[in-house]
Amino acid sequence: MTARIELSALDPGYDLIVVGGGITGAGVFREAARSGARVLLVEARDYASGTSSRSSKLVHGGLRYLKNGQWRLTLESVRERERLLDEAPGLVEPQTFLMPIYAGRKPGRWLMQFGLRVYDWMAGARRSRWLDAPAARAAEANLADDGLLGAMVYEDARTDDARLVLRLIFDACADGGTALNYVAATLRSENGRVCGVRLRDAVSGCERDIEAGMVVNATGAWAAALPGAPAAAPKLRPLRGSHLLFSPRRFALRHAVSWLHPQDQRPVFAYPWEGAVICGTTDLDHREALDTPRMTPAERDYLLAGLAAQFPSLKLGAGDVISTYAGVRPVVDGGKDDPSAESRESALWRAPGLIGITGGKLTTFRVTAHEVLRAAATERPRLAPESARPLFASATPVASQRRLYGRLGAAAAGALLQQVPGEDLRTIGETPWTWAELRWAARHEQVVHLDDLLLRRTRLGLVIEEGARALLPQVLAICREELGWDAQRCASEEQRYLACWRAQHAPLAA
Ligand SMILES: Cc1cc2nc3c(=O)[nH]c(=O)nc-3n(C[C@H](O)[C@H](O)[C@H](O)COP(=O)(O)OP(=O)(O)OC[C@H]3O[C@@H](n4cnc5c(N)ncnc54)[C@H](O)[C@@H]3O)c2cc1C
Repeated sequence: MTARIELSALDPGYDLIVVGGGITGAGVFREAARSGARVLLVEARDYASGTSSRSSKLVHGGLRYLKNGQWRLTLESVRERERLLDEAPGLVEPQTFLMPIYAGRKPGRWLMQFGLRVYDWMAGARRSRWLDAPAARAAEANLADDGLLGAMVYEDARTDDARLVLRLIFDACADGGTALNYVAATLRSENGRVCGVRLRDAVSGCERDIEAGMVVNATGAWAAALPGAPAAAPKLRPLRGSHLLFSPRRFALRHAVSWLHPQDQRPVFAYPWEGAVICGTTDLDHREALDTPRMTPAERDYLLAGLAAQFPSLKLGAGDVISTYAGVRPVVDGGKDDPSAESRESALWRAPGLIGITGGKLTTFRVTAHEVLRAAATERPRLAPESARPLFASATPVASQRRLYGRLGAAAAGALLQQVPGEDLRTIGETPWTWAELRWAARHEQVVHLDDLLLRRTRLGLVIEEGARALLPQVLAICREELGWDAQRCASEEQRYLACWRAQHAPLAA
């Protein structure tokens, strides 16, 4: 329940200003707000519109990192996964993975079993197990059958990445923080110390200077380009990862399946997500514009070749893809030849009045936030993070409302159930979203453009064919009622949304 405010309504100064509304900035903002600091977050475009709505949406330890010897990252991630599963049911959910094992092919059963024992040990619970070939076939009917010995089963977790960011931001606002989307920051310094920001609101065109005790540069892949920054960010190596989405009518999956791509032995995966099936991902140097990353035909063909190897009977082709997305990993450049060998750990740098943070994973946002706030507290002790209480308090009254409570938090979910008409609780098509969530988002979640509503508050533009074009009349009717858009505004928003969808999310021509 957070209305968007004008720059003129901001205080003249804050203890902490967070620049960047992806998972990193949202985590710092959430932790700072609950420790009682006066904190402001600004995001140049929409919340989570950068990398944090374009991840693989897994809250995971990362078996791959274990293989690369990144024990600390894996252990931290496994522990965070366990905490998030515990604290945020409905937002972070368990996800069972199958890794099929074939005669004479990598990975072998015993090596996988050893890795998964370590993974289980890190989580403090034995969850992995072996399925023989008939059981593996019964679990997933379309697995390649030739030489199938069985499958290792293990547990990780999935989320809706954009909703995780939004939950952190709106919970922080409920605790007294202030957040603004479509507001870009330039750093301001005095006597060699960062003392605040100049803000520019893309909606009103207004500008205003705001003072800050400390500023956090959480601009991800944009970190080195933050205007006015006195200290250079570490050299980043933007790495693009792309995904394909399918309708479950064409590609039915009950579990997540993970396998090694036959071309380069990189792990790839497919799993059911929010009424669609996601397949990813690639890992390539990204040399194009950061604002509009796009999958290339070569990446599409790579993922389709991976699917053909693992699910040959389905004969999935370019014509079966319903949408795509690509994101750019803000990875610190370690000079490795192979992009996938670069470390995914976060990097922190500082200058007087400024902390910079980049790299890292969605899963470990809380660890990163604590690291940032501990560093900030050396100059401003009041920013020291509070770690005893759970971050989320998602008590769900009944199981059927688990999803709503997880996504919105208890206060907003309770208010939604009182405010919206009962018939709005029906789901939209084959997706798990309800019309009530969409209306709620339009009413309370700082929606500025139609793409905010269809690509991040909900993800209907990704999981329904043609970017959910057929639903636009109903969606725009809600925008008219909740946002006061007139016919002209509806037409221009529709045009903007469809252009954005075509440029970044439409399937590539076969
Ligand atoms: C393909 C892919 C798959 C991934 N899969 C996973 C996964 O499954 N699990 C996992 O844990 N991690 C995953 N990750 C990693 C994770 O998604 C990223 O590390 C994380 O989202 C980065 O978040 P961020 O907040 O640092 O950056 P971003 O989300 O990019 O946020 C930075 C924000 O700063 C804003 N900004 C820039 N300049 C300014 C300015 N001047 N003023 C105000 N705002 C500004 C940008 O608009 C942007 O929204 C994946 C990454 C990719 C690319």
